[in-house]
Amino acid sequence: MGLFSGLEKFGFNIKDVEDIYEEPKSEKEEEKVEVVKAEVKPPEEKEFLVLKYVKCPVCDLKFRSQFIKTGRARRIGADRDLRPRFSHIDTLKYDVVSCPKCGYASISRGFEGLSLAQAKLVRDQICVKFAGKDAGVEDTVDTTYSYEYAIEQHKLALLCTVVKRAAVSEKAYTCLKISWLYRGMIEDILAKDPEADVSKLKEEEMEYYTEAYEGLQLAITKETYPICGMDQETLDYLIATVAFNLGKLEQASRFLSAVILSKTAKRATKDKALELKEEIIAAIKNNKA
Ligand SMILES: [Zn+2]
Repeated sequence: MGLFSGLEKFGFNIKDVEDIYEEPKSEKEEEKVEVVKAEVKPPEEKEFLVLKYVKCPVCDLKFRSQFIKTGRARRIGADRDLRPRFSHIDTLKYDVVSCPKCGYASISRGFEGLSLAQAKLVRDQICVKFAGKDAGVEDTVDTTYSYEYAIEQHKLALLCTVVKRAAVSEKAYTCLKISWLYRGMIEDILAKDPEADVSKLKEEEMEYYTEAYEGLQLAITKETYPICGMDQETLDYLIATVAFNLGKLEQASRFLSAVILSKTAKRATKDKALELKEEIIAAIKNNKA
């Protein structure tokens, strides 16, 4: 007799079951090990990417470029100066599109938005000189971007903002993104080797950062909000943090006051501004001491 006697007629062969409470140990353990393995293995950068066709507004070439898959990358916060951070990928690297044939490049969002006059400027000043990656477009496009490549492409985009006489804010924001890319590159290098000499890269980061600071200040005197997709308080806060990081404490303080006194600023922005204000006060005290 057994617990399951009488069930043979249903086709079950259950003679082997002695203890119904016994856990099938070996299998369970194997399962656990597999689950742990799956969690530890980080996703590869290419899993976050998707190739999309874009059409160059300057030379009409239709080509593929890398974009971040919608909803795939998980945002894990931001640096104080609003540089976004995502888990397992620096999405900033892919926020640029460049035409492999004529050399026109831009931050992704504005790539196709070019007036005829601007397209002519790019054609006359970029395309005629561009000695680029004409051949082999299809086989280089599938790769992930290194920081070097992303920075180079953003620099090309910055050159195009000058040539096409873009708004000051677009030039400034492109500079800000380049400095953020240097920061990402530095973090990447230091994660692998904490002793590595990154002083040259740090200089580059700060050079573009300073350009961004000057450009953003100029933009608010010339343009109407939203500027670079930001309302007045967000941009004031951004300029304040950039000023702070550049050691310009008085200027930082001035821009923060505008945020703190604003009647329309979001609570979260005000809180961040108050937090930074306290740090600035402490830093000023330290400088005097
Ligand atoms: Zn083109």
